[in-house]
Amino acid sequence: MKKKVYGGIRATGRLHLGNYFGAVKGMLDLQEEYDCIFSVVDLHAITTPYDPKTLADSTRSVILDYLAAGLDPEKCLLEVQSLVPEHMELAYYLGTVFPVSRLEDLPTYKDKKAQHPKYVNMGLLYYPVLMAADVLLYKGELVPVGIDQEPHLEVMREIARKFNSMFPSASSGQVTFPEPQRFKTKEEYVPSILGEGKMSKSVEGSYINLTDDLETIKGKLAKVPTDSGTGSLEHTSGGVKSLLQFVEMFEGQDRRLAYEKAYEGQGIRYSELKDSLARAMFEALKPIQEKRREYEENPEKVDEILRVHAQRCREEAQKTVREVKEKMGFLMI
Ligand code: ADP
Repeated sequence: MKKKVYGGIRATGRLHLGNYFGAVKGMLDLQEEYDCIFSVVDLHAITTPYDPKTLADSTRSVILDYLAAGLDPEKCLLEVQSLVPEHMELAYYLGTVFPVSRLEDLPTYKDKKAQHPKYVNMGLLYYPVLMAADVLLYKGELVPVGIDQEPHLEVMREIARKFNSMFPSASSGQVTFPEPQRFKTKEEYVPSILGEGKMSKSVEGSYINLTDDLETIKGKLAKVPTDSGTGSLEHTSGGVKSLLQFVEMFEGQDRRLAYEKAYEGQGIRYSELKDSLARAMFEALKPIQEKRREYEENPEKVDEILRVHAQRCREEAQKTVREVKEKMGFLMI
């Protein structure tokens, strides 16, 4: 039996390099070997302030980015979470085995609460339970997500363990849920281009989207704060650290080493570094953007993939929900 994989990204806009290196690259590797479902988790997107007029477009946009980046509908299932309502049903059952106090303590919940103090809703608190249900619905064993999601993975494993021990299977040695592990990528943490914290959709100016053209990338890199360009490497600013990391990612380690040497010697000219980096980034993104345009021009084809895949996902999801209900003792007719 092939390992099961489930990965998702919220429907909150276009994907950026952090999403790509932290999550999508892992998906690309995994689709070659395992039984994969990759989702746009739109039910999670509504836990923070959002616009109902743009939700559907944002969902479509992530699907287009997935396809453009190379997720292959012949190799994996592409899911729009809200088209598989079993996610919500399983989340409710799983929510009854997990303490509220643990949810209140999670760093992501605290961060979001601080970010939107007037939008602290039940859905936000429940987010990690729904996320556990997302993966466990398909008995997922591997989850390609960035390092920031590790506390949520821990919740998933706790829920799986708790459920397995509260509702054991009739045959010994068999458990309902596996304990999912995070699938790490090489670049599991992509910094903000501004040099502080991680690249994130919710921090304006911190990200480069997969769909950015050369001028946009140049414009964004122009705003990266730098320093005098010379001195001891230990004392470079956050912005320069980010730039050097991106140089290594897009132009190779030798280029980074050359800049580091220059920093400790004659100095770096940041306008040249930024120009060359912008070009390298754009070259890497160009094939993704071309592929995206093909799918953009064929929306019916994309909808058809989503419909067929939703149906296949639901068939599998309903089996898990049925098993869970039986184990929990519900009347089954
Ligand atoms: P954002 O923080 O931009 O809203 P999401 O929370 O929607 O991104 O994350 C979607 C996926 O992308 C998750 O798997 C997350 O771990 C990954 N991810 C997001 N930002 C980064 C980053 N800067 N570096 C690595 N992975 C990231």
